[in-house]
Amino acid sequence: MYIGRFAPTPSGPLHFGSIVTAIASFLDAKSNKGKWLLKIDDIDEPRVRDGSVSEILKGLERLGLAWDDHVVYQSQRKEQYQFHINDLKEKGLLYNCNCSRKMINNSSLTGSHGLIYNGTCREKNLKNQTGCSIRIKVVDEDISIIDSIQGEISQNIHNDIGDFILKRSDDIFSYQFSVVVDNHLDNISHIIRGYDLINSLPRQFYLHKVMGFDFPKSSHIPIATLGRKKLSKGHGDRILIQNYENLIWMNALTFLGQSTQNYHLSMTVEDIIQHAIKGWSKNKVKGFAEREIDEHAHR
Ligand code: GLU
Repeated sequence: MYIGRFAPTPSGPLHFGSIVTAIASFLDAKSNKGKWLLKIDDIDEPRVRDGSVSEILKGLERLGLAWDDHVVYQSQRKEQYQFHINDLKEKGLLYNCNCSRKMINNSSLTGSHGLIYNGTCREKNLKNQTGCSIRIKVVDEDISIIDSIQGEISQNIHNDIGDFILKRSDDIFSYQFSVVVDNHLDNISHIIRGYDLINSLPRQFYLHKVMGFDFPKSSHIPIATLGRKKLSKGHGDRILIQNYENLIWMNALTFLGQSTQNYHLSMTVEDIIQHAIKGWSKNKVKGFAEREIDEHAHR
């Protein structure tokens, strides 16, 4: 069965870029007679902004984006995440690392995706976990995945990133790790999200493999930019949803390459949604990293 999801980080209200992601994942799920789940990525507590969750839920409701099942919160899954950390530990795949950011800066090479961790702590067998991060050993092999919008994505994690963090020194489970456990717990079959996360795909693929989980099909849509800058929840790029629902839908459909010829601003949101589900074609979403939006799409 098709199970998709939208997984916003509650660091601020929805903006046009996050709405486009929500709409694309919703339409793909619904046009495949699947489920569309809502997961709140609130594991990174310092990034969570008070009031954002309810703003996001309200925004989605106004846009008629009704999620199936109950809302999932990462912050309520810490025991499950720890269970899988223990499991990977038993398999001998993890190690503690007490390298400071400064040490890593000084001792690492910079690759196309940032600093490459050189494995300083791999053989140290550090026992004391306090103040340590937990890393996973990666292997020197090329990983190649087909993204249904962006095409082939290849990476050698060992050469480009190095052993990466599953639990940070402040005891917070990393995004790369928590999202993989979530996909498994929620039986996610399809992921649609922004291109800014495409670099995470090989790491997540690797984690699915070592944990024995099925890897969902992925589609990374272009990210919306304004003045060539990515819109972001954390920086107050909010969108006024109330009373502009139809316009937002049409702007989002246009952004996603869907035809809006037979749509009118006088239609109800429910009508727009029914049309949009019937007309949805993922093939029309162009495989670009980013796409500049019309200034008026962002209110
Ligand atoms: N929480 C991430 C965001 O808001 C999305 C994560 C994902 O879709 O895997 O950008």
